Amino acid sequence: MGYWSATLARSLLGRRPELICEPAIWEDGVAELARRTLGGHRESGAFLLGEKGSPRRIHRFVYYDDIDPNALDTGIVLINGRLLGDLWKICREEKLEVVADVHVHPGCYRQSASDKANPIIPEADHLALILPNFAEGSNLPGAIGVHRYLGNRRWRDESERWFPPFHMGWYAWL
Ligand SMILES: [Zn+2]
Repeated sequence: MGYWSATLARSLLGRRPELICEPAIWEDGVAELARRTLGGHRESGAFLLGEKGSPRRIHRFVYYDDIDPNALDTGIVLINGRLLGDLWKICREEKLEVVADVHVHPGCYRQSASDKANPIIPEADHLALILPNFAEGSNLPGAIGVHRYLGNRRWRDESERWFPPFHMGWYAWL
């Protein structure tokens, strides 16, 4: 679905999204994530900062390797929690919160065992997005992984819902 038809269908059916992003912010962020895979040689990822509300709104990407320079060295994303000070500083200064996270996979958008065992933000209802194929294909809701953290290292895969909780573009009640 295009941005407008998806928005219209959601509004008519009352399927309010939980997380939204303007297309320009999303497209720039995703292009940068693809660039940071170094031509498909490693995963990359980012904290998604924005405003918590209903829905949560993504304002900017903060790339894992800008917070922890070694985060991408093993090929999969591993962040040293002791280096998160810079992230919290950005949040404080810009009055933003981590509203979701996103990372890139070589293949499909299912979670790996490591992804399931290591939630980036271990809060119930946190959404972890996964872009398949090193972010080289479509990276719109419907073609990407949308995984909801339930707590206690349990997750629910909501990627293939007709109305995933992540929505691109404008949204309002009609
Ligand atoms: Zn992963």
